[in-house]
Order: sequence, then C-alpha cells, then structure tokens
Amino acid sequence: MGKATGFLEYNRQENREIAPAERIKNFNEFRKPLTESERIEQGARCMNCGVPMCQSAMKLSGMVTGCPLHNLIPEWNDQVYHNHVQHALSRLLKTNNFPEFTGRVCPALCEKACICGMDGESVTTHDNERYIIDSAFEQGLMQPRIPKVRSGKKVAVVGAGPAGLAAADQLNHRGHSVTVFERDDEVGGLLMYGIPNMKLDKSVVKRRRALMEKEGVEFRTGVNVGVDVKAKEILDSYDAVILACGAKQARALAVPDADKTKGIYFAVDFLTSTTKSLVNGQPTEGAFISAKDKNVVIIGGGDTGNDCVGTCIRHGAKSVTQLEMMPKPPETRLPSNPWPEWPKVLKTDYGQEEAIDRFGSDPRIYETTVKELVTKKGALTAIKTVKVKFEGRKMVEVEGSEKTIKCDLLLIAAGFIGAEKYTPDAFAAPLSERNTVLTTPDKYKTKVDKVYTAGDMHRGQSLVVWAICEGRECAAEVDHDLMGY
Ligand SMILES: Cc1cc2nc3c(=O)[nH]c(=O)nc-3n(C[C@H](O)[C@H](O)[C@H](O)COP(=O)(O)OP(=O)(O)OC[C@H]3O[C@@H](n4cnc5c(N)ncnc54)[C@H](O)[C@@H]3O)c2cc1C
Repeated sequence: MGKATGFLEYNRQENREIAPAERIKNFNEFRKPLTESERIEQGARCMNCGVPMCQSAMKLSGMVTGCPLHNLIPEWNDQVYHNHVQHALSRLLKTNNFPEFTGRVCPALCEKACICGMDGESVTTHDNERYIIDSAFEQGLMQPRIPKVRSGKKVAVVGAGPAGLAAADQLNHRGHSVTVFERDDEVGGLLMYGIPNMKLDKSVVKRRRALMEKEGVEFRTGVNVGVDVKAKEILDSYDAVILACGAKQARALAVPDADKTKGIYFAVDFLTSTTKSLVNGQPTEGAFISAKDKNVVIIGGGDTGNDCVGTCIRHGAKSVTQLEMMPKPPETRLPSNPWPEWPKVLKTDYGQEEAIDRFGSDPRIYETTVKELVTKKGALTAIKTVKVKFEGRKMVEVEGSEKTIKCDLLLIAAGFIGAEKYTPDAFAAPLSERNTVLTTPDKYKTKVDKVYTAGDMHRGQSLVVWAICEGRECAAEVDHDLMGY
C-alpha cells in the first residue's frame, strides 16, 4: 500500500464523460482519461486490504461480486499510485488477457466488492485498469511475445469472441499452434458487432487481433464451421477443438404476427448493422437499419436495450421508449441487499442519460410489456402495451391498463435463450436444458472426445469478463489433456 491515507485524502473521480448533447453527434468513445497526476491519486485510494474482496469473485445471495479473473487489483493499484506502468502491466496481464476490453465494457464486479465502497465510494479500479493498458500501448510496452518453443499440437477454436480469443491466446503462449475460425468478417464476437462503438472503439479490437497474429495465432474469418467447413474435417486435422460460439439465439417476441410485420428487429441485428456500416466507412442512410425520424420502442430495460437507446438517438430518432417487465429498482441498497453483495439498484446508463437530455425524461417504463401490434399494410404503426405484475413467479396482466404507443420501429432486447444449435449439432455435442453446451460442472470438456466449450455457449449469456475467464480455464484444461501435465 503506497499511501496509507489515500482513501481519506482523495475523492473518487471517474473518467470524464463528454456531455450527452455533444457526444450524440457521433459514435466515438465518450469517456476520456484523467491526467496522469489525477490517476495517481485514484491509485492511492486503494487500501490494499488484508482480505481484498475486489479480487474474490464470491457468490453471495446467488450473484457474484468481486472479479471473476481474480485480477491482482491491490497490487496494480499500488503500482498506479507509484506511476510504474510497466510493473502494473506485468501484474495485470497475469490474470487478464484483454484489459483493454474489460477496462472499457466491464460492469466492474470488483468495484461492487471494494471495501472503500462499504462506507463511501469504491476505488476506480475499472478506470485504473484501462489507464494501465492504454498507457502500455501508447508507451510501446505491448510488443508481440512470440513463443520460443512449439509443442507440435494443433488446436482449433470456433468463434472469435472474448472466450475464443482468450483460449487462443493462452494456448498459443503454451506453444500450441492455434487456428481461430470465425464466421463473421472480423474477429471479436459481440465485442466487434454487438457492443456499440461509443463503448468500445473497433480499432481496439483490431489492434488486439494484429498483436495475436504477430504472436502466431492464425485467424480464418468468413468461415462458418458446420456449414462452410465440416466438423469432421476439423476433428481430423486438429488435436483439440474449442467451441466458443456464443449464445446468440435471441428470445422472440411472443405477440401475434410479430414475424410477419415490417419494422421489427432483434437488438443485436440492429446494433450490428450500424457498427458494420461504421467499420466499412459507409454510415449513410440505407446502409443500416435506421431509427431516423422514427418512434422507437425497445423491449427490454437491460444493457442491450440501453445500447439501442444510445444508437437510436445518434441516428436521430423522433422518440425512444424502453419497456421493462420488472419493477423499478430502488435508488440505493435495501437492507436485504447489503455490501458486498451485487447492488440491485437503479442504474441509469449512458443511453438513458442521453435520452433524458434529449427528450426530457427517462425512456424506461416499468412493469409493462407489449400485448398487440398495430399495423397498416403490414408495417408497424403503433403497439398496445399492458401493465404486468408478478404473482409468485407468474406474470399476470393488470386489467384495464392497456395503452397505445406510436411505434414504427420495434427493437427486441429481451435476452437470449442459449446457443445456436447447428454448431454443437455438427460436432454431436449435447446441449443442456438451458440450451448451452453440456459439460460436467466446472469443466470444459464436452461429451465428445477432443471437443471443449467455453464462454456464453457454455454458461449462457453473460459478460465479457466471464467469457475471458472461461476461455482461460478451458485453455488450461485443453493444455493439460494435450500434454498430460
Ligand atoms: C448488445 C450487447 C451488449 C453487451 N454489452 C456488454 C458490456 O458492456 N459488458 C459486458 O461485459 N458484456 C456485454 N455483453 C455480453 C458480452 O458481449 C458477451 O457475454 C460476450 O461477448 C460472450 O463472449 P463469447 O466469446 O462467449 O461469445 P460471442 O462474443 O458471442 O462470440 C461468439 C463468436 O462465435 C462466432 N460463431 C458462432 N458460430 C460459429 C460457427 N459455426 N463458425 C464460426 N464462428 C462462429 C460468432 O460469429 C461470434 O463472433 C453485451 C452483449 C450484447 C448482446
């Protein structure tokens, strides 16, 4: 611990954000780093607790709090305080392959368990992490580390999301020859075409790909495994195969005629179309699903819904409404949800802040769902909504609470129901009841010889930090099985 009184002397200061009215003019990242001296103060706030809960990943009341990667947070916070970027980096990379992703998009499970947060404001661990890795890239510290010895073993990774990339990175550094197959035209999975640019600029993903290529990982993009290449071909050519294809089967809208009506899209398809047009340098009308001048309703009050809000506002939507089935959470922790449990409190994210600034009110309507579509010549013009309440676990409609909302673009951000089936089917890997690829608990090997799985495809829709964690643990299991130690 560098400064014993740091947490008493300095207040928490997060990265600065460009004001909503300004940032909605483009799709650029809007969180800007603190100065070096301000960052040092933020590092000094870490108390180097005897029992650092921030790195614990404890399950409390059914939810994890603390970092799933067990990042050595107090160690690198201390190095941030001493402004030793290289030392901080060496500790950070011990547990996290891609801090430039988590430092931008992680909801920071670490900060929820920070002891400073018990009776004040937690350390800015998330922003400190980003400072370390961004400074390391700027200072030329992130040079390719090319394995000196090769094992002669070949591993195929199917899917280049954070889980597949983390597994590939780990196995390459263990000396195995790794080929990553990706059906999209770029690597990154939802990091590339899912999470919008304003949260994660795509140059950050491409920079990591370039580094991994220099280190010896081979990427084969535009290859849909199970369709363009047969599973047998891959099984015959590689010593192990990791399926890391995500859980992109979206929950459909259970409303009559939803599949026949024009103007309804899944959130990820909508977000992907915008990002692809930006990456291809063609953000012109017609090149993506546009919300310009539309009355948009988003089904789902979660993070994906929020990304849709921010994207619609940048398109120039006329209005944006978000429907959420659950009740509005409390502003602060309830006594039944004490520190260091994951705080079940109201989170107003960047898209919602922008909607408040642009339209004057929070876009979220709680305890409400869509009941009926109103159409004209097959195109959506409005939706009928209804209030809902829960009787035990059963959701029931509140009689007489129907309303009509103008809507010519409806985005479904109602979660995911598991993995797309065709890839596990191609490898004959059985699925669980939750539509995830089946393994024995806490293991990554499927029921099929040589075939492993990791990430959302294994645990269900989750977070980037969990995908990296699963990719690393899966790689360790593969390495052990290949080498016998
Ligand atoms: C809109 C949105 C926003 C999100 N925002 C955040 C956030 O801010 N923070 C956060 O922590 N998490 C966020 N998440 C969740 C996070 O992105 C995922 O948990 C994470 O990306 C899962 O990683 P993965 O590698 O398991 O799968 P994915 O990222 O889904 O990657 C799977 C890859 O496999 C490829 N693939 C599938 N089948 C095949 C095949 N047969 N052959 C070849 N390739 C194939 C896919 O094209 C894809 O590239 C968000 C999710 C969404 C949908």
